[in-house]
Amino acid sequence: MDHSDLPHTNWRISERARKLTSSAIREILKVTERPEVISFAGGLPSPVTFPIERLREACDRVTRDAPSAAFQYSATEGYMPLREWVAARFSKNGVTIRPSQVLIVTGSQQALDLLGKVLIDPASPVLVETPTYLGALQSFSMYEPRYVQVPTDEHGLIPEGLTPALTEDARLLYAQPNFQNPTGRRLPLERRRALAEFARTSPFPVIEDDPYGALDYAGDPLPTLLSMAPDHIVHCGSFSKVLAPGLRLGYIIAPEELHFKFVQAKQATDLHTPSFTQRIVHEVVKDGFLDEHIPTIRALYRDQCEAMLSALERHMPEGVTWNRPEGGMFVWASLPKHIDTMKLLEAAIAENVAFVPGAPFYANDADQSALRLSFVTVPPARIDEGVARLAKLIRERL
Ligand code: PMP
Repeated sequence: MDHSDLPHTNWRISERARKLTSSAIREILKVTERPEVISFAGGLPSPVTFPIERLREACDRVTRDAPSAAFQYSATEGYMPLREWVAARFSKNGVTIRPSQVLIVTGSQQALDLLGKVLIDPASPVLVETPTYLGALQSFSMYEPRYVQVPTDEHGLIPEGLTPALTEDARLLYAQPNFQNPTGRRLPLERRRALAEFARTSPFPVIEDDPYGALDYAGDPLPTLLSMAPDHIVHCGSFSKVLAPGLRLGYIIAPEELHFKFVQAKQATDLHTPSFTQRIVHEVVKDGFLDEHIPTIRALYRDQCEAMLSALERHMPEGVTWNRPEGGMFVWASLPKHIDTMKLLEAAIAENVAFVPGAPFYANDADQSALRLSFVTVPPARIDEGVARLAKLIRERL
């Protein structure tokens, strides 16, 4: 059905809403919820990592000890002890983040919407990686930017590509230095330094979206851009991949002037992030729980990734290439150029295996022959079976 107008009424929808489109893949991927489908498509964290017992205890404590506050309206900026916790977590090695820089948001997806609201006018240039997170494109697109793709290679964004001609009049640069969605790439240290230096002198903010930063398999994180240029970076973080996404809890760390604009924009959006969930999460994290919990997620995801990589090696024909992620939840594969992964998906679904085609992750000039494989929710034996089915379909098209 064409949703560009409301056929049963005479109601007029906004030009903005008129331009919204449903993603074609979302429709196709609905069928992947069938149990017989081996799905590498969803970007969901593994539910076995959700600390259910801890969350239940925290719910009990919050409900018992602070029921009025937990169920009352509260400040747009967020629950102060949680803001203090976030600020303390990022204050190390000589860097100080103040609680007054921290805004608690309803999932870091809301941070992307607030960035759009506060920074983007129609037609203003917005710099994005090539490819980039589809959900960021969806959020920013509401504000009708003109996307400018920053050159990238297998190590991620190329800072030398940020030439004055490319960056002129830009409102923001959106980057994911850690285990990028969709490619799984991690930006090397030298490039981080160069990007932090760029941020220091640039007339617009560099956005560091970092929901996967804690998930490096070796437990050996590279420094955040925020730590390298704390006054010049807007850092978006999330509890979705380290606790549970259904909590819808994230944060933005930004210089105070911009923080204040985000607060005004958020107030108009949802007044504040739920008081109850903020308190629950604070209860769970306040005594160092994440430091024991995150290593268990890393270990699981490392094993899952290994299962995916060895299945790819076992089954994929020559001409198919992929990266070796050092963390996170995604592998990015490239097929011979004549294979359109959108079409391949239809055939794959008929064989009960699914992935996400690469094209929707590009702001402009999509690569039609790439695909994203999520590997954290599928048991290893099923990973092998799913990759074997996919490899067979690809072989038939060579
Ligand atoms: N940024 C990136 C790069 C993501 O992959 C996601 C989740 N898929 C988000 C932001 C949003 O995460 P959440 O709203 O759950 O914090």
